[in-house]
Amino acid sequence: MKYLLFLILSIPLYLILYKYYPDKFEEKYHYYFTGFIIINLIILYLFTYETLFIYKLFQNIYYSDKPMVNLNGVDQNQLLKTQISQNQMNQCYQCHNPIFSQDLYLYKLQYIQPLQLGGVNDISNLKMVCPSCYSFQ
Ligand SMILES: [Zn+2]
Repeated sequence: MKYLLFLILSIPLYLILYKYYPDKFEEKYHYYFTGFIIINLIILYLFTYETLFIYKLFQNIYYSDKPMVNLNGVDQNQLLKTQISQNQMNQCYQCHNPIFSQDLYLYKLQYIQPLQLGGVNDISNLKMVCPSCYSFQ
């Protein structure tokens, strides 16, 4: 509540300062101040009414061992794709066009037998199809 009061009181304070020292304020400061107020209102709303969401968000950040952003740019599926590509003799599963290792990131992994039809979540049930085969499904 004090925080909201501070935000509400900061607006007339800003306007008074602007009234007496208009030469010190550039136009961009109005945008900065508006942004400051809006961001603080959002933070206030989240911490007041969405406490559970904030709690879960920080819990996920704290307990996750994987980085949120992969900075080294390596596709996490690269090894899996290489292995499946070799199993398929470096050919697309459907059209049998050759798979080139530098284009692996373009190919899509799919289940041979979909999970909802009783397929297993295992590497033996995975196929790799080229982008054109994938787009025609
Ligand atoms: Zn294909």
